[in-house]
Amino acid sequence: MRRLTCLFVLLPLLMLGACHRDADPVAPSSEPALPATPPPPNDTPAGQRIEADVRILADDAMEGRETGTPGYDRAAEYVARRFAEIGLEPAGDDGTWFQRVSLVASTRVADGARLAIHRGGRTIELRHDDQFLPSPSARDTAVDITAPAVFVAHGIHAPDLGHDDFAGLNLAGKIVVTFPDAPDAFTGDLLAYHSSSPARLEAVASRGAVGMVVLATPAHAARAPWAFIQSMSAKPGMSLVDDDGNIVDTPPGLRAVAAVNVTAADAFFDGTGKLAAEIFDAARRGEIRGFDLPGTITLSSRSKIERIETRNVVAKLPGSDAALAGEHVVYTAHLDHLGIGEAVDGDAIHNGAIDNALGVAIVLETARELKTAAVAPKRSTLFVAVGAEEQGLLGSRRFALTPTVAGPLVANINIDMPMLTAPTSDIVPIGIEHSTLKAALEEAAGEIGVALSPDPFPEEVVFVRSDQFSFVREGIPAVYLDGGVVAANDRQDPKRAVTWFLRNCYHKPCDQADLPIHYGDAARLARLAARLGQIVGNTPERPRWNEGNFFGRTFGKPPRE
Ligand SMILES: [Zn+2]
Repeated sequence: MRRLTCLFVLLPLLMLGACHRDADPVAPSSEPALPATPPPPNDTPAGQRIEADVRILADDAMEGRETGTPGYDRAAEYVARRFAEIGLEPAGDDGTWFQRVSLVASTRVADGARLAIHRGGRTIELRHDDQFLPSPSARDTAVDITAPAVFVAHGIHAPDLGHDDFAGLNLAGKIVVTFPDAPDAFTGDLLAYHSSSPARLEAVASRGAVGMVVLATPAHAARAPWAFIQSMSAKPGMSLVDDDGNIVDTPPGLRAVAAVNVTAADAFFDGTGKLAAEIFDAARRGEIRGFDLPGTITLSSRSKIERIETRNVVAKLPGSDAALAGEHVVYTAHLDHLGIGEAVDGDAIHNGAIDNALGVAIVLETARELKTAAVAPKRSTLFVAVGAEEQGLLGSRRFALTPTVAGPLVANINIDMPMLTAPTSDIVPIGIEHSTLKAALEEAAGEIGVALSPDPFPEEVVFVRSDQFSFVREGIPAVYLDGGVVAANDRQDPKRAVTWFLRNCYHKPCDQADLPIHYGDAARLARLAARLGQIVGNTPERPRWNEGNFFGRTFGKPPRE
């Protein structure tokens, strides 16, 4: 699960077309441990199967399942064996269980990095590291550009809100200077989409820009301090490579991107008669549009580029109806995690029990439920343990862009990091309001006897931050089934347990199998997911986006036949 990502919302632009693994600047809580509770009983066969899978996938032997490591490959082999044991068919490349996912990892090299403003006969050199950080390039080990500059405010064209930062500007051959995030009027899905890295890069690249400088604003700096951006930018970022060797989601014309500390922003407006502080405020209110900046900017970056191979694990339950078996309902859960990193209390292995061994184990149990039912769903069902999620949803992007099966994908049901450390009576279906999947889920939940709760943290816009978004981008209706928030007893508060996990163990070595995971609730989530898949798989009409829905309008396309 990616809570605060560079791809979306908080660190949108540190990597040109690739993404750093996410991290969380939230301060750790002083609470040393979860409030003492008796270990939850695990007394159902389904719960016991899920626990057994979690204990294996989150074992130290898997070394944290990092993309490109032998530990990840061992975990992938294990999932393939489990799919075979359940009785599914391999549905990866060439009759195997695996789909190849090729990546490039790019790392910023400090030597040769430069950001300079040439104006009125003098040159202002920004200091590397404390004033600016170039993003590593996925394509070029060395980039040197000098070009005229144009300020484009937030760099957003949102016809829905009548907002166009590019009106009347020519970006061709220029370096754009822009702010992260979006004006205050942007909320929810519109905020998430327009402040996302792919949307931004595409917006300026399609207008001909050759470089981009992102100035942190005071509001952005309050949430993501420069020290945090510095620590993130030291890590490699990854990009997906397609079968023709092209780097996906990286517009080739846009050659260099750099982030600039808020403390250096004034230099860019020097000589324009405007102060950075005034421009920040006007941009927040949506009251400023772009303008040409005097002089030119030089932007140089150096990168180390390496190829990395990983893979998705893909299994299929063939549909039972000849007419519909060519269509597919796709379950996903990411199998990768962060590997071996910084040690905490002598433990350096980031086991990722909840993020996301638990999600994979729930999908395995869902597969078993569907396989052992009297009749398979009419449509075919795919179960995909995707890789490289922590690197920017890359395994799911690979699968959604280039599926290993012929015939359309009609829906995606994703499970990521269900934080089931306190007993709950509900499930949170993220993004369900966008499509006709809602009616199917309500029917399934009624039968299973589980309540559905609205997203308790809508401001986190999680719908665009896990693997379902890769399917959404291909126009495929999707839902992310998350753990619940309604307490099942009056002693344990699930929201408090979630907050505790996010503060203390999210993306840390203590996300491991000794957490008090409620496997009975995990089994209930698997039952619900399975019943949802049956209903969607058997309903004659394919799921569709609701009339006028933002995602449907933005990404909807005629279904792939
Ligand atoms: Zn994660």
